[in-house]
Amino acid sequence: MNILILGSGGREHALAWKVAQSYHCNQLFIAPGNPGTATCGINVSMDVNDFEAQKAFCIEQKIDMVVVGPEDPLVNGVYDFYKNDEALKNITVVAPSAKAAQLEGSKAFSKKFMQRHNIPTAAYAEFTQDNFEEGKKYIAQHTLPVVLKADGLAAGKGVVISNTHEEALQVFEEMIINKQFGKASSKVVIEQFLAGIEVSVFVLTDGKDYQVIGHAKDYKRIGEGDTGLNTGGMGCVTPVPFMDEVFMQTVEETIIKPTVNGLHREGLVYNGFIFFGLINVNNKPFVIEYNCRMGDPETEVVMPRLETDLVALFAAMDNGTLADANINFNENSFATVVAVSGGYPGNYTKGFAINGLDTITGDSSIVFHAGTKEENGTIVTNGGRVLTVTSVGENLTQAVNQSKKVLQQISFEGMYYRRDIGYEFK
Ligand code: AMP
Repeated sequence: MNILILGSGGREHALAWKVAQSYHCNQLFIAPGNPGTATCGINVSMDVNDFEAQKAFCIEQKIDMVVVGPEDPLVNGVYDFYKNDEALKNITVVAPSAKAAQLEGSKAFSKKFMQRHNIPTAAYAEFTQDNFEEGKKYIAQHTLPVVLKADGLAAGKGVVISNTHEEALQVFEEMIINKQFGKASSKVVIEQFLAGIEVSVFVLTDGKDYQVIGHAKDYKRIGEGDTGLNTGGMGCVTPVPFMDEVFMQTVEETIIKPTVNGLHREGLVYNGFIFFGLINVNNKPFVIEYNCRMGDPETEVVMPRLETDLVALFAAMDNGTLADANINFNENSFATVVAVSGGYPGNYTKGFAINGLDTITGDSSIVFHAGTKEENGTIVTNGGRVLTVTSVGENLTQAVNQSKKVLQQISFEGMYYRRDIGYEFK
């Protein structure tokens, strides 16, 4: 099969790394990709949202399968574009329809969906400019902390957890009246705060059947001990010790099955990943959010742990045999530690040379590129999250230590990484 992966981050490098190993993969292209993905296939300079350019490319290169990495093209209707085009409709597209992608694209849509299907989630209410005054009263009476969420996609910045009513009211006004996130915050979801440990579960579904392909715990804060500002993710571990058979069964029965059945019953077309952002509250899982794609950096541990051929799973998803697939996981533990630019998640400078990449040998670690690019034969930094080192070990401590050992061999000006990934599981 000729396969095209859309995207350019660490997630896409991990997907490309996995897809390239498939017996079914003939030619692999990544658009636009990064210097890491260039080691797995051929990078193509093409925007993830430029569907017309993709059409010409897919026809020219006889593409059989398109795997969509980031959320923007999903919400922009990449699936529908391919399926409504005579020349592209036979391509397997790993993505939900635009309508189903509202599970990620609109917090209000996903909350209503969960309510309709009795899926455990935090209690909530939604407000717009039309009932702004009512929203202020709702906030003033809400228990603390209170969670405010911009309805639409806000590049991971649309959620605020407030410890005071004053701050919550300010944030509410900022979002709705001052349109902090434009249209994305014209509607705001206000919800109850849930205290517990977060974990993410990843599923591949055809909208009728599903397979769990992995889970992971990520570390979002910039500082050690989970302090400081939120980032796109500073590291991840899998498997997570509390994700035992009993807990996983509760997740399947109370969350995954009702979600997939709900998609089916509502006729929401879905052929792709569901990322369940969960919180474990005293051994009871609740949904914090749905994403309609894999996570970054979760993919960088989920793919190395998954032993099953990913392309065969995509094909099974497409031909209705997903329920019969065998999923095999590596018995070891996996950790990834992200190296970021100095100053991230605030302002940072790009373009610093990355040293030591060619000294990494052995098969217990993989360096996945995220924000890197090649400049005159040198790999330089090109983003906040620059690269991530995934390692395997007999336990999480070993895996994390191995990644840190590799990171000591890599350097660029201002490089920072958390040394405490997986700290609570030691
Ligand atoms: P979201 O974009 O909905 O995943 O929210 C981003 C982050 O905010 C989550 O990963 C949680 O850490 C936190 N969060 C969101 N909703 C809640 C909630 N109801 N209770 C506690 N934490 C939350």
